[in-house]
Amino acid sequence: MKLILLGPPGAGKGTQAKMLTERFGIPQISTGDILRGAVKDATPMGMKAKAYMDAGALVPDDVVVGIVQERLQQDDCGSGFILDGFPRTVPQADALKVTLQDLGKDLDAVISLEVDTEALVERLTGRRTCCNCGRGFHVKFDPPVSPGVCNACGGELIQREDDQEETIRKRLEVYREQTSPLIQYYREEGLLVEVDGMQDMNRVQDQILSVLRAA
Ligand code: AMP
Repeated sequence: MKLILLGPPGAGKGTQAKMLTERFGIPQISTGDILRGAVKDATPMGMKAKAYMDAGALVPDDVVVGIVQERLQQDDCGSGFILDGFPRTVPQADALKVTLQDLGKDLDAVISLEVDTEALVERLTGRRTCCNCGRGFHVKFDPPVSPGVCNACGGELIQREDDQEETIRKRLEVYREQTSPLIQYYREEGLLVEVDGMQDMNRVQDQILSVLRAA
């Protein structure tokens, strides 16, 4: 299965991608996670990306396209992959098309998760992640037993730097301007399926699974 999860920040792409990864044993390719890893390790790419990420802006296309091209050639992508947070611009989508053609692969579906803007802001401002095991929480919708402490491993829960309200609004504006044209792009390719991302995450997952069965 070769799938793109499209949608604004906070739509649930990461959550859905992780559920699909467990079910199908294919990798989640999250450019955001790869870039955060590079920032943490202070690699040259991470140092270049950090300022864009902190400002809620997109990292230049050539950087993310290079990441994805390299990642798609790894052995674990042989039976499929879930792209989460890529592509985010039309040039990225064009570059992906060429890369997949070169690899002799076709996308099965592009799933667009639709969520209201104010719900996105509430989801993102309350989001917390364990700095040790990476488990996600939400201060309102999925609070930890002890505030600030991971239920699973006792690690400290942290807020992503770009999950401050001002940066969130900037990221949503960037989505509207630069990424949302991809909805029409993939509709024209006959690959787009819209799923209501306001529903409970298990229901969203069920709908994605029925889309995949039909693809
Ligand atoms: P995410 O975790 O997907 O919300 O991504 C966090 C940040 O990483 C974004 O706000 C961008 O700065 C950067 N980023 C992730 N994916 C891309 C992409 N495909 N193109 C450009 N920048 C990206």
